[in-house]
Amino acid sequence: MDLDTLSARLSTLEQAGLDAIRAASSPEALEAVQVAYLGRRGELKTVLGGIGALPAPDRPQVGAIGNAVREALEAALEIRRRELQTAALDARLARETVDVTLPGRPFRSGSLHPLIETNREIARIFGQFGFVVYEGPEVESDARNFQALNIPPDHPARDLWDTLYVDVPGYLLRTHTSPGQIHVMQQTAPPIRALLPGRCFRYEAVDASHGFEFFQVEGLMVDEGTTMADLRGLLDAFAQAMFGRGRPTRFRPGYYPFTEPSVAFDVQCVVCNGVGCPSCKRTGWMTILGAGMVHPVVLRNGGLDPERYQGFAFGLGTDRIAILRYGIDDIRMFLENDLRFLEQFS
Ligand SMILES: [Zn+2]
Repeated sequence: MDLDTLSARLSTLEQAGLDAIRAASSPEALEAVQVAYLGRRGELKTVLGGIGALPAPDRPQVGAIGNAVREALEAALEIRRRELQTAALDARLARETVDVTLPGRPFRSGSLHPLIETNREIARIFGQFGFVVYEGPEVESDARNFQALNIPPDHPARDLWDTLYVDVPGYLLRTHTSPGQIHVMQQTAPPIRALLPGRCFRYEAVDASHGFEFFQVEGLMVDEGTTMADLRGLLDAFAQAMFGRGRPTRFRPGYYPFTEPSVAFDVQCVVCNGVGCPSCKRTGWMTILGAGMVHPVVLRNGGLDPERYQGFAFGLGTDRIAILRYGIDDIRMFLENDLRFLEQFS
């Protein structure tokens, strides 16, 4: 081993080391290159191990070359280390970039159900006349649902309501909101102005205009000197507010066991304005509710003296009002929870 050979080997080693450093594509690879060339058992140590075979005067020169190679490799390692760090940071930033030009994800917000909206509108209109909202139970006693409303067990009028009974004897799913009248009369002293919205149930075959579950709003006013004219005036005002000013209305004779006299309240067809169309069965009129003066028997069952107090009651179908209000032709849509239907009301 002579000086030139050793110098040449160091020069080759330096070049190979620099190439390896430049080729390292990750911090781990660079670490491996450093160990391979500058480690305790690395290439440089191995080559310099030959220094002992040189004549003593040549040794410092080779030592100096060796140091220069070490420094060159260390400098190159440092540069490459920074390059890799910068590249890693750039890659991470690129990965985490938020593209502010991307369209946002749509946020679906809920909305009130059309029946709830309609119930609220009904309550708002009657609220202007001092009517306060009460709630009655959906599971009701036969006594309140029928008997207190002047419908004894053998009364033929029971056929008007196909009833769903529950397992507890004497109880049923209310067939109408009218038992709420009894609750209110038993709990409140006149003057009474009560509105009772709620869900009702009947054993009905389901079709476009019938459901076994539907919504009603019951109204009850009891005071001294209440007359049919008060009822007519109130319902007229309601019809104007709900279906537009100037909408013609009429009373027709009706029948309910719990009112006497009883009436059906019609508004001029909102589809054809009275000309006659399939929606109004070509009559030009649509019945929106049933009403009448509270029967003296019912007042007595509510704990009130019919000689002193008179009252009127009315019951309207929320579904029916909503159908007219929104132009819907199938009652089943209300309870099918189809978002395509419901989103139209948001
Ligand atoms: Zn019509």
